[in-house]
Amino acid sequence: MKSLYSSIAIEDGISRTKLARQTHLSKTTVSTLVDELIDLNFISDEGVSYSDNVGRKPNCLKSRSGQYYVIVLRWIEHTAEAHVVDITGFTAYSTKLHLKQGESYISLSQSCVYNDILKQFPSRHILGICIVVSAMIDAAHNEIYSTTLSLGAGRSGNLIHDLYTAFPNYPVALLEDTACYAYAEKIYARIRQDNFAFINFGRGIGATIFIDGKMLGKASGSVTQFGHYTVDPHGPLCACGNHGCLESMFSESQLKISFEELGAAAQHGDSAAIHTLQRMAKYLALALSNLICIVNPELIILGGKGQYLGDLFLEEVKCSLKDVGFRRMVDCSDIRYSTLRSDACLNGAMKYFFDTYYSFLEPHLPAFYIG
Ligand SMILES: [Zn+2]
Repeated sequence: MKSLYSSIAIEDGISRTKLARQTHLSKTTVSTLVDELIDLNFISDEGVSYSDNVGRKPNCLKSRSGQYYVIVLRWIEHTAEAHVVDITGFTAYSTKLHLKQGESYISLSQSCVYNDILKQFPSRHILGICIVVSAMIDAAHNEIYSTTLSLGAGRSGNLIHDLYTAFPNYPVALLEDTACYAYAEKIYARIRQDNFAFINFGRGIGATIFIDGKMLGKASGSVTQFGHYTVDPHGPLCACGNHGCLESMFSESQLKISFEELGAAAQHGDSAAIHTLQRMAKYLALALSNLICIVNPELIILGGKGQYLGDLFLEEVKCSLKDVGFRRMVDCSDIRYSTLRSDACLNGAMKYFFDTYYSFLEPHLPAFYIG
């Protein structure tokens, strides 16, 4: 049912016959499951449609909006955001609370969910809750480690333990933000390559890698720390304890200027801005060439706030990549900016949760998932 639903949602109008062809299921099976999806209000049958070009078209199935939602909670810099994301891929409602003394990200999030969202959206229409953080979520040690976000220890002394019981009536998933951006890219930008890397630029720098179509290390951010690649062994000390990490050389918080301002200044010919971009491009190319040697991605997507750095930066990265790395592999890797909106991680989180953890059989079973 999930596979059928995903095909219907992405196609915006598809027939049962085409679905059967796409999913390699029999027409009878497709028909039965489609009826079930219609009964559950996930999709609707729009009936026979006509068009001038091709005449009568078979019955058209479409995903239904305004029915089911995933709540996506984001914790950023003394702020807890809560977004109600429709499973057809748009944000139906957003709210934000600022952290005051004595409050925690968890208590703020509970307040957003119970005092606000659940007053507007019926509980049975909420499929689950995602908590999205810019951090390494270490499932083996039940720890969240972040170099860009100060999360505190939580009431019990362990934030993950507190989260287990924070939303007791819902399936809850704790996810890393870069992984959510990367998943959005795979689904909504319809990435065809099985091996690709997504680099997220923001307060920190992170990467999510897909190998053979699968996300490496799930959405936990705990198996790669691309932002902490050394690009200059004599560079400044990074919050992680290492010297000259990519993140310590040019993340937004280190530059003291936003990528948007930097990209705009360079475009207007500001020589200091152009020089900074060229330096950043050299460092990034060095880190990318090492990444390429390890996992050989066919495609590298620069996203998050990366695209604000502009065409000049991308050209400089491509140019610098010609001077470093193992030629045969580097030459086979394509590199481009993301084409999705900068808040794509909300849809990514919703879709990842739905595809990975939602269960049509036990839709409201409380559970806690990491990554
Ligand atoms: Zn570091």
